[in-house]
Amino acid sequence: MNVPALISRKRDGGELDRDEWAAIVGGFVAGTVAPEQMSALLMAGVIRGFTTAEAEALTEILLASGEQLDLRGLRGPVVDKHSTGGVADTTTLVVAPILAAAGVQVAKLSGPGLGHTGGTIDKLAAIPGLRTHLTIEQMLRQVGEVGIAVCAASADLAPADKRLYALRDVTGTVPSPALIASSVMSKKLAAGAPNIVLDVKAGSGGVVGDRDEARGLAELCVRLGAGHGRRVRCLVTDMRQPLGVAVGNALEVRAAIEVLAGRGDRRLQQVAVALAQAGLDLVAEAAEPVRAEEVLASGAALEAFRKWIHGQGGPDADPEDLAKRLPAAPVRRAVTASAPGTVAGVDPRAIGELAVTLGAGRRHPSDVIDPAVGIILDVRIGDPVGAGDRLATIHAATETAAADAAGQLVGAIELTDGPPPQPPALVVDEVGPDPA
Ligand code: URA
Repeated sequence: MNVPALISRKRDGGELDRDEWAAIVGGFVAGTVAPEQMSALLMAGVIRGFTTAEAEALTEILLASGEQLDLRGLRGPVVDKHSTGGVADTTTLVVAPILAAAGVQVAKLSGPGLGHTGGTIDKLAAIPGLRTHLTIEQMLRQVGEVGIAVCAASADLAPADKRLYALRDVTGTVPSPALIASSVMSKKLAAGAPNIVLDVKAGSGGVVGDRDEARGLAELCVRLGAGHGRRVRCLVTDMRQPLGVAVGNALEVRAAIEVLAGRGDRRLQQVAVALAQAGLDLVAEAAEPVRAEEVLASGAALEAFRKWIHGQGGPDADPEDLAKRLPAAPVRRAVTASAPGTVAGVDPRAIGELAVTLGAGRRHPSDVIDPAVGIILDVRIGDPVGAGDRLATIHAATETAAADAAGQLVGAIELTDGPPPQPPALVVDEVGPDPA
């Protein structure tokens, strides 16, 4: 294989065929294609674009690089849910219990936080005793018994994606619809669920910047799923500001419990209900459709959450008691507005990065997470604030960490004395399950 010639062809806007992609990805994983060659090729593709055929080829190559789960032993409807990654985005902890309470099984393999975005596995690990690593047999038993299992994806699931993603993360080659779609869909296809709900985040805190690009990514994911016999429904949701109010692992578990208990943050609730409804609609057979909002309001989802957490090794506790027993940071520091104005921006990327700096995420795979730390936001775009009003509270391990974070947080929240900006819509587009 002439790797420089393949890179040059891509640089000049050409296309690589399936065999060429298989050879180059295989060579990268085996160590015969150098990381600098792989990154040059990826960067050429990010700039010049990939064809749909290339996205399909990449998906199949990544999928075939590892094991594929067989969920056919589960009786009844099964849905998987995935987000392309956001900040204060705790929807899985609400969506899965709503689906389970409505009789839909959720078998989900999740990852840890990536970059500035949080990960469901890190959030679940904040719950004392909860097991995030289950064997496939344990996972299937847990789904059969309580309707939900969410556990860490094994290293054998699309392992080539793991290698490629780590390279993309440090070479500025994440934001390409074809690369994101093949990365996400290879893992979802390997995880085996026949129905998949995807939350594609659009905005500076997500992996794609604008709504049109997010729609293109969603359409590609639906098409890649359909090509493998899966029904995929994508919602494009706003990530121009953090979704909920809590950023940080235990803080986000508490925020999810509050939504399940019926008095949580409205934005988090609305997106979670919309995603749960998408899952219910994917598997709907009944003449009388089940409404996710009603399932949530009935308290059945809160009970499904309790069973799920206990089934996976967490405490057998009323979720509201559990919320009080989660790790709490020793230092809390309020950040206030120095002048009156209207909130014009809450930078999700800066807030996510700040949470990582506090210890809620990892800069290096070996970093140890502090489950207690993070940020609670008091404001969002369009809110009026007076001088001295609280903008956010920092939950930190030390006074020094809190003081450093406070200085940076002020820069992440933009105030204006001009006309109030329009708050962004939450669900901006919907795609699937039929390919466009
Ligand atoms: N999440 C993934 O799993 N892969 C990407 O490429 C982007 C987000």
